[in-house]
Amino acid sequence: MMKSDGNCGKYRELLKDKKRIVVKIGSSSLQHPETGDLDYTKLDVLVRELCNMRNRGMDVVLVTSGAIAVGKKAVHLKEFGQAGDKEIAEKQACAAVGQARLMMIYQKIFAEYNQVAAQILLTKNTIVDNLNRYNAHNTFSELFKLGVIPIVNENDTVATYEIEFGDNDSLSAIVAALVEADLLILLSDIDGLYTDDPRKNKDARFIRIVEELSDELMEMGKPSTGSDVGTGGMNTKLIAAKIATCSHIDMVIANSKDIKVLHRILDGQDIGTLFVGRQDTYFDLPGFVEQMHS
Ligand code: GLU
Repeated sequence: MMKSDGNCGKYRELLKDKKRIVVKIGSSSLQHPETGDLDYTKLDVLVRELCNMRNRGMDVVLVTSGAIAVGKKAVHLKEFGQAGDKEIAEKQACAAVGQARLMMIYQKIFAEYNQVAAQILLTKNTIVDNLNRYNAHNTFSELFKLGVIPIVNENDTVATYEIEFGDNDSLSAIVAALVEADLLILLSDIDGLYTDDPRKNKDARFIRIVEELSDELMEMGKPSTGSDVGTGGMNTKLIAAKIATCSHIDMVIANSKDIKVLHRILDGQDIGTLFVGRQDTYFDLPGFVEQMHS
């Protein structure tokens, strides 16, 4: 299923030369678990790391969740309504409030480091439609030329089931493919990929490198198979790995409990799980996005 860890050092060394990086952070990594309020210390470290990557001459994109969670807090909503139209409308209303708040906070911290940030909100249509995709690609290119850091999220206020990506793991890999990044880093609440759920199986082995994302491994990630690899959101992370590696992009999953892992990964340190980008594949990005959910 996986080749040995023998080549790990070689592939880690190559991460030192990356020039265009997409970093994804999830809502749970941005909140205090006790209250659900934003963890400003973490946000500050995240922004500082990203600004430092810019200062090293890299193009940087941040894919951030948190719109719905921040909006829910802002309007003091305890729970969303039952599944259905009401729940969707509530979440979309929360996203409208929360996305603006989230950007306000990011803009403030980025400004402290003298860095300009921009907001880009995407839906599936942006990728599927040829003209929209071309325009989005050009916008990112122009922002990189201007030295701006794009901050990306799904356009949750309008994206209902038919046009939503659904999760930011996949979205970040799609963005990485769109902007022709050479590295995607998923900051998550897990260390990386294990052979089994480490909370339940003490013999679970940590996987430092995946050189070939086999069908067998992809199957294990599906929750429906009952495999423990599918817990903790590993399914969406493996789909992201598939999109990224088939688009020739390396991907690292690392734990967000210490956000300073970002510069350590870029210094070639052996942190998290590295999925090695393939060189021999053609990936039909719009075709893939079109069939998502269908
Ligand atoms: N776009 C959603 C939000 O900002 C989060 C989706 C996800 O975390 O996967 O609240």
